[in-house]
Amino acid sequence: MSTQSQQPKLRQPIVVVLGHVDHGKTSLLDKIRSTAVAAKEAGGITQHIGASIVPADVIEKLAEPLRKLIPIKLSIPGLLFIDTPGHELFSNLRKRGGSVADFAILVVDVTKGFQNQTYESLDLLRSRKVPFLVAANKIDRIPGWTSYPDEPFIISYERQSEEAKRNLEEVIYGKIVLSLSEQGFSADLFTRIKDFTKTVAVVPVSAKTGEGIPDLLAVLAGLTQQYLKKRLQYAEGPAKGSILEVKEIPGLGTVVDAIIYDGVIKEGDTIVLNGKNGPIITTVRSLLMPAPLSDMRAKGVKFVSVPEVQAAAGVRIAASGLDDALAGSSLYVATSPDEAKEIAEKLRGEVKELIFKGDNVGVIVKADTLGTLEALLEALRRLNVPVKSADVGNVSKNDVLEASLTAKADKSLGVILAFNVKVLPEAEQEAARSGVKIFSDNIIYHLLDQYTEWRERLKEEEINAQLNQLVRPGKFMILPGFVFRRSDPVIVGIEVLGGVVRPGYPLISSKGREVGRVLAIKDNDKSLDVVRTGARVAISIEGKVMVGRQIDEGDIVYTDVPVDHAIKLLTDFRKFISDDEVIVLKEIAELKKKLGQKEYVVVLNRLGS
Ligand code: GDP
Repeated sequence: MSTQSQQPKLRQPIVVVLGHVDHGKTSLLDKIRSTAVAAKEAGGITQHIGASIVPADVIEKLAEPLRKLIPIKLSIPGLLFIDTPGHELFSNLRKRGGSVADFAILVVDVTKGFQNQTYESLDLLRSRKVPFLVAANKIDRIPGWTSYPDEPFIISYERQSEEAKRNLEEVIYGKIVLSLSEQGFSADLFTRIKDFTKTVAVVPVSAKTGEGIPDLLAVLAGLTQQYLKKRLQYAEGPAKGSILEVKEIPGLGTVVDAIIYDGVIKEGDTIVLNGKNGPIITTVRSLLMPAPLSDMRAKGVKFVSVPEVQAAAGVRIAASGLDDALAGSSLYVATSPDEAKEIAEKLRGEVKELIFKGDNVGVIVKADTLGTLEALLEALRRLNVPVKSADVGNVSKNDVLEASLTAKADKSLGVILAFNVKVLPEAEQEAARSGVKIFSDNIIYHLLDQYTEWRERLKEEEINAQLNQLVRPGKFMILPGFVFRRSDPVIVGIEVLGGVVRPGYPLISSKGREVGRVLAIKDNDKSLDVVRTGARVAISIEGKVMVGRQIDEGDIVYTDVPVDHAIKLLTDFRKFISDDEVIVLKEIAELKKKLGQKEYVVVLNRLGS
């Protein structure tokens, strides 16, 4: 017996593509597929539901020119690529404590470097413990680069000018490797890596010209078969999978598109999966796959029914009772009614962990699938946002009522975050009535951004409202020649020399005399609520004060900051007041101390003098 035949049979690693919008995820997947299709004498590609398999023969043929650097003898039967890139579908590849995806390609546009969704992808990969490589895409746009379509990167690189090579290195190391290292990952150009378990591989590619695609496939295949051997061992037993999508198909009813990562699923098998109203136990009526050679992009894709499907695979499952099925749910084949019940209980527990009543005061989260719900909850946890309740489904009136209760305790948390779900009309009406904010989007990152921006604005408004209760430090000069009225009220032209002046503020002269209160501030005919350093405006001052007596042209006047206001400004609001306000406050405190108001010593101490 040869040693080869004793080796356990491996399945195809399941590969996902993630990255920032427009960095070339879709183009890269298209290029991988078209490159493989072109190698049809080696087997082309096999189209699955929601996935494509590039067989080992094709990878070996494409990587032939790389033999010297990457000696490839593949023991995996190929690579299974999930066809739709991005967070949302990846989120639905859930598996307890991890992901059904075995490996990820993080696409980074070399002309842009890491952007928001790149970081978000990295967070997702980290939290689901999925190993990855970086495809440094769009190398055809590197200054001075000469394209050699479909060539391996290694060969194309050798033919480049010194300048183009330098420009490439600059973006690889200056952008990508640097950003990864800031995120705690050591990374390097794949040709220079000695230990792939410690270093993230960066593979330069162009999804436009096809350069680097052979290297990318070779590195993917090499890394997965070497380091994920245990994970990829194929078990002959009942299938395990994950529901990618739930769809309504005319003539078939509700079907589920699943990725099978282990075992076999057959027509007539009992399957268990999660539904909106608890676990579903049903029988496979038919398993559907795209008909061979059918063009997936053409209209009216033909499907064929197959008796069984082996991992790794993407398959459409038709069965009764799938109406409530939840995308992102696990799917298991059960071999007996008892086992089916056991699995159902396990699945119920998994969902309970996600769909929950959590913190007393927190936001309400609604999402379209278990996967996106989980991803949203993880992201909110990272942002330290408490969650009151989380569930799959549309936003209902009840959700809004619950949020409006929370808003009474904390306005910033009395909101609903809705991912890719509808807001029901009664919910909309209730929200309009009670003023509850509903944030709704179909990109997780945009949804969170909308919410956090709003929350920041709210915080700012609250701080401003509190600040408005205090007299802030301000200093101005009465401009000589600009006395419009000497008393009752005084009206003079001033220039603000520091800090803030607002209507209502009490004033003291630089000699320490109380000189009334600001009545109004005007710039020509416009009334102003606040003026800052540099402003030249007219103000009216009410109180027992007369120009020529307590104050005069050319005098310096301060706002009369009470000692408790001064301390509050320096403790609670130091971050929100400007440095020039602090300087003016010091002058005021020194003036007060000179006048014998000893309590201002505390203020001076706080100011460090
Ligand atoms: P996705 O949003 O990440 O899926 O990005 P797409 O695949 O839709 O690509 C975004 C844009 O970048 C499209 O206009 C593509 O034609 C272009 N693009 C993608 N890959 C490359 C590449 O390697 N080189 C160049 N020059 N353009 C590319």
